[in-house]
Amino acid sequence: MLLEGKRVAQALDEATARQCGELHEKGIKPCLAILRIGERADDLSYERGALKRCQKVGIEPRVYALPQDTGEKQLLELVESLNRDETIHGVLMLRPFPAHIRDEAVRAALDPAKDVDGITDGSLAGVFAGTGRGFAPCTAEACIRILEHYHIDPAGRRAVVVGRSLVVGRPAAMLLLHKNVTVTLCHAKTQNLPQVCHQAEILVVAVGKMGAVGAECAAPGQIVLDVGIHMGEDGKLRGDTDFAAMEPVVEAITPVPGGVGAVTTSVLAEHVARAAARQCQ
Ligand code: NAP
Repeated sequence: MLLEGKRVAQALDEATARQCGELHEKGIKPCLAILRIGERADDLSYERGALKRCQKVGIEPRVYALPQDTGEKQLLELVESLNRDETIHGVLMLRPFPAHIRDEAVRAALDPAKDVDGITDGSLAGVFAGTGRGFAPCTAEACIRILEHYHIDPAGRRAVVVGRSLVVGRPAAMLLLHKNVTVTLCHAKTQNLPQVCHQAEILVVAVGKMGAVGAECAAPGQIVLDVGIHMGEDGKLRGDTDFAAMEPVVEAITPVPGGVGAVTTSVLAEHVARAAARQCQ
């Protein structure tokens, strides 16, 4: 079975559009600031997706596009001004930043209340403690939303998450843990990865390498969530799994494109609407 991100996104967008409609009636216009440095193709592509999603659900997007040679001080000043601006409810920073800017310093400057992509330590603390405060990184949460949409109750099941980045792997593992899943977190030093993955009833793949996880990791009955996005030599998008090899073996899998990536900006838009509602209370 294919776990189609578009269906999940559609359902999320309908709910977010309703919430934005209610906010509009109260005179509140949810607004997302998108902060980009330079013109990286990945950033521009994500920005286009976010703009489209905002327009669809009734969020005002404001793009702050800065030149590649922007200094850290200038960037921090902009972040401070976005924090102070009461008409802005969420801030999305397209990263990685150029090497001369310290990622940690900029993340620390952002008001956690406006951190709709879960990059601040405050947001991550909320994810790890399971307090529901702050917002989880959108991609990690997209994995959970796909399971929910397809009525896959993960409680009590064994999940393996391959990849331990702060953006995807670690928060995805924590979100699964809060759903009472028994989670194993794997990384580049994991021994016998295929053997570990084979035990998974739910397999989340976020290794950042095209087609790195294949049939050797697949097992019948498995639910596979492929987080990867890569441009193949043929110009087609591919994931971190070898889809053609895994799909005939497993019970369900997300395609690339049209899987986890299709849900990420819908989660982002939902976070902006929730941030606007919270800030205006
Ligand atoms: P990342 O920061 O490069 O992290 C990759 C992780 O995979 C690391 O923890 C690394 O382990 C682990 N890893 C690498 N090779 C491995 C191997 N052979 N076996 C086991 N683990 C291995 O990547 P990321 O930012 O988490 O992104 C992961 C993927 O998601 C990428 O393909 C990216 O394009 C995609 N992505 C998609 C979205 C979306 O919206 N769908 C958003 C963000 C990212 P170590 O820690 O030991 O090095």
